[in-house]
Amino acid sequence: MEFNTKLIHGGISTDETTGGMSVPIHMATTFQQKKIGQSKYDYSRSANPTREAVESLIADLEGGQAGLAFASGSAAIHTIFSLFSAGDHFIVGNDVYGGTFRLIDGVLKRLGLTFTVVDTRDLSAVKQAITPQTKAVYLETPTNPLLRVTDIQAVTQIAHDHELLSIIDNTFSSPYIQRPLEFGVDIVIHSASKYLGGHSDVIAGLVVAKDQKVAENLRYLQNAIGGILSPHDSWLLQRGMKTLGLRMRAHLQNAEAVFNYLTKQPLVDKIYYPGDPKNVDFEIAKNQMNGFGAMISFELQEGLDPKEFVEQLQIITLAESLGAVESLIEIPALMTHGSIPRQTRLSNGIKDELIRLSVGVEDVNDLVADLEQSFNHLKGK
Ligand SMILES: *Cc1c(COP(=O)(O)O)cnc(C)c1O
Repeated sequence: MEFNTKLIHGGISTDETTGGMSVPIHMATTFQQKKIGQSKYDYSRSANPTREAVESLIADLEGGQAGLAFASGSAAIHTIFSLFSAGDHFIVGNDVYGGTFRLIDGVLKRLGLTFTVVDTRDLSAVKQAITPQTKAVYLETPTNPLLRVTDIQAVTQIAHDHELLSIIDNTFSSPYIQRPLEFGVDIVIHSASKYLGGHSDVIAGLVVAKDQKVAENLRYLQNAIGGILSPHDSWLLQRGMKTLGLRMRAHLQNAEAVFNYLTKQPLVDKIYYPGDPKNVDFEIAKNQMNGFGAMISFELQEGLDPKEFVEQLQIITLAESLGAVESLIEIPALMTHGSIPRQTRLSNGIKDELIRLSVGVEDVNDLVADLEQSFNHLKGK
């Protein structure tokens, strides 16, 4: 089955008892056992038919052994790190999601896990960071908000040469654009609150494991820790995922048009977009991604106020988050990355002038016109 067909017919996509074209929302917490132990389900934290439907769908889409659904992307990441023990060491990408940093800094370090932060595009830095205690490499590609691209296959090769797990947060791409398990990655995680849900109306996390053993361990932890996705949200997420292909094609087309517009806009100083042929990561992006995503970051010319620019927009909405049908814009320094100390943020290349745009699926002429009127407003000052 091709990917776009899997989105509709993959996993469990219908109600087997009635033929209904939508999986029912099974709210039951417990299930009758005809005889002790004789039932497919026993308790909904351990397994729930609606959650199972979306879990089987993401496993099909990423090409793994098993999928697991969590109450948020953050709950999913926490459960993954619960595979490990105090004293274990990890190599982590240097611009992973802010909430992941918070989880590492505020929770996991306190529990005895240790971390070395590296730019995972630098393969020798990755190798050098490996210690006898290292258990896994954890990264995002493209990263947030500078959209840097790591060579997934190369890093995974290094990880496997040293018997480490490789774990990738695939939120920014969705499996439509990038399927890390095909490059040998062991665990893929998604904040499904973004492209997979797609409509800014469900917080969810999804995980897919390549191998049975890892899948079984994660299943054990999902049940033991209990950060599961509710039946209603599981249904909502699956409903959203059916149109992922349609949405991503529109996102990609619009993003390319917006990028082309921004390249010609004199008030823009610098653009970060993996599809920019001048971008140092362009060739790697081309090789491992099916399209370049719909996230674009850019810096205004020095002296221009990014706050004034984003507040002037009428259609493109000033908000955190990304990956929705609506175009969303934000200033990382003041919003998503505001909790990172300024010096650390600047040394990671995230300037005060940086703007991050999640290009939605509106008519692109309206998006470009909106950007244009906001640039004109700055010029008129
Ligand atoms: C949003 C996000 C998360 C966290 O997911 P939640 O569903 O908000 O908990 C993790 N990683 C990335 C890349 C994200 O964008």
